[in-house]
Amino acid sequence: DELISQIAAGEVVERPASVVRELVDNALDAGATQITVRLMAGGVRLIAVEDDGCGIPQDELPVALRRHATSKIRDLHDLETVCTMGFRGEALAAIASVSETALLSRTAGQASAFLLDARSGELRPAARAQGTTVEVKELFFSTPARRKFLKTDATELAHCVEAVRRHALARPDVGFAVWHEGKLVEQWRACPSGPELSADDALARRLADVLGEDFVAQSVPVLRRVGPVTITGRAGVPDAARSRPDHQYCYVNGRFVRDKVLTHAARSAYEDVLHGQRQPVYALYVEIDPARVDVNVHPTKIEVRFRDSREVHQAVRHAVEDALAAPRA
Ligand code: ADP
Ligand code: MG
Repeated sequence: DELISQIAAGEVVERPASVVRELVDNALDAGATQITVRLMAGGVRLIAVEDDGCGIPQDELPVALRRHATSKIRDLHDLETVCTMGFRGEALAAIASVSETALLSRTAGQASAFLLDARSGELRPAARAQGTTVEVKELFFSTPARRKFLKTDATELAHCVEAVRRHALARPDVGFAVWHEGKLVEQWRACPSGPELSADDALARRLADVLGEDFVAQSVPVLRRVGPVTITGRAGVPDAARSRPDHQYCYVNGRFVRDKVLTHAARSAYEDVLHGQRQPVYALYVEIDPARVDVNVHPTKIEVRFRDSREVHQAVRHAVEDALAAPRA
């Protein structure tokens, strides 16, 4: 089973940033409002993700590390209409198979936290407020061939920050902080929407924090509903696009995805309206009936397959075209 987990790890864990992505995913699933990521040596020596979520009960700590252990699928119907962030129960087992992993967690009902060392299996009481810390040390220490593929600490750190950034753009209501070697690298404060702050304004604030004030000032709101597809977000106009050449963020039902249908649709809109804006900056959020999209394509869930990709392509293209073509104040 260790070997199977290591093979699964090859699909899920490519580099420190993949670990960060999975651990932050889990923290969000646990209802965290504040997530802190601490890294050493670009995440190769240490990745610690702390959250203030629901915690893992003491007796479930060992289970959480087992393959296909997930608290997120209750029945087959769930599998078909899954819309939580994670659902396969592979990530923690895969990560633990290629690192020294420890879980420290406390639920609301427990008098103390418990610490599980994945390698030794030792479980003992420890100190912590409600929530979970997952600590991943010495990634790929037992698989030197994989460790060789890692880039410099600075490059791995940049990928880790990017992984957190992708989550942060989806969840303005959650606060995020990233530390490297004891120094604060990024911090995005929670802006929960409510009577004081609309969801749109909360998103705009988060976009300004993460992508810069310039991006928000030099972008237009996207909003379009076509049948079962709703598209929101912001599309940068030329000046903003020059400042951040590589920032194209697409989300499907709250999850960051890399998808050719979406990027092609957005690029077509930029070509039509602005005649060849090659590297536009945008953050687009597609909401679609979960039955019309398959998120089970890849273990990292970064790829999706739309049941009707034409429908989605047209909706996104028109949404971005309308936004770019609208007269600006
Ligand atoms: P999945 O997220 O697909 O369920 P994982 O391997 O990522 O699988 O996690 C296994 C299980 O461990 C989760 O289903 C959840 O019950 C528990 N878990 C992991 N991380 C956390 C966390 N930060 N807070 C609460 N529970 C967690
Ligand atoms: Mg998970």
